Amino acid sequence: MFQSKERRRERMRETLFPETWRQLLHNAVPLYRRLPDADREELHGHIQVLLSEKHFEGAGGLEVTEGIKLIICAHAALLLLHRETDYFPKLITVIVYPEAYAVKTQTQTDRGVLLDVVETRAGESWTSGTLILAWQDVRRDLARVPATQSVVLHEFAHQLDAGSGVMNGAPVLSDRDLRHHWPEALSAAYERLSQATRQHEPTLLRPYGAKNPSEFFAVAAEAFFLYPVELQRGEADLYSALCQYFKQDPATW
Ligand SMILES: [Zn+2]
Repeated sequence: MFQSKERRRERMRETLFPETWRQLLHNAVPLYRRLPDADREELHGHIQVLLSEKHFEGAGGLEVTEGIKLIICAHAALLLLHRETDYFPKLITVIVYPEAYAVKTQTQTDRGVLLDVVETRAGESWTSGTLILAWQDVRRDLARVPATQSVVLHEFAHQLDAGSGVMNGAPVLSDRDLRHHWPEALSAAYERLSQATRQHEPTLLRPYGAKNPSEFFAVAAEAFFLYPVELQRGEADLYSALCQYFKQDPATW
């Protein structure tokens, strides 16, 4: 019998979330422990939908366990709380490598010469349906105290950005007021980060965010969840725009 996508998702969200899964996330994911109780229940529903809709593949000899899927989906689901969502519609497959993997690519010198280089990557996100993660880097991020980066949040933030059709640091903004506020808040903070990075000054956001507006949005999303109090203090307009976008205020958790 035909069942609409929304009905199917509603049923998935209502599926019992096993106690063993709660325990696993409690032990493995610091953000899960910080989350308010009501948000945690909503998170469980989103995790169920993601588990049922996204395909997971191990690469480089890694076997994708239930725990790996849960930890990845918990981070992805965090980005969806309180918002109307189509669950990363461009994303079909999550590929997980055991550790950082090498990618042959090309780079251009300042004189325009193309060079073949091999880059080591911890993750990638594509608009064509694939997201790649290195499990060792995911675990390293989770163990870091204080937490300063998250490759999982980063790559899924790119998927939100991709919802507009291109990854350019401008995700779909449903709120009219936010559409007005967003470009200025994001570009001013991006400029500050770019300038400080050029001058080799210490920065609140990871210097990688100065690469382009798309990376800036992904790096800012990491900071928003991992060190919200510091971000609110150091980049108030950016924090406020992200609060409006994510419909969450992690500084109060
Ligand atoms: Zn990125």
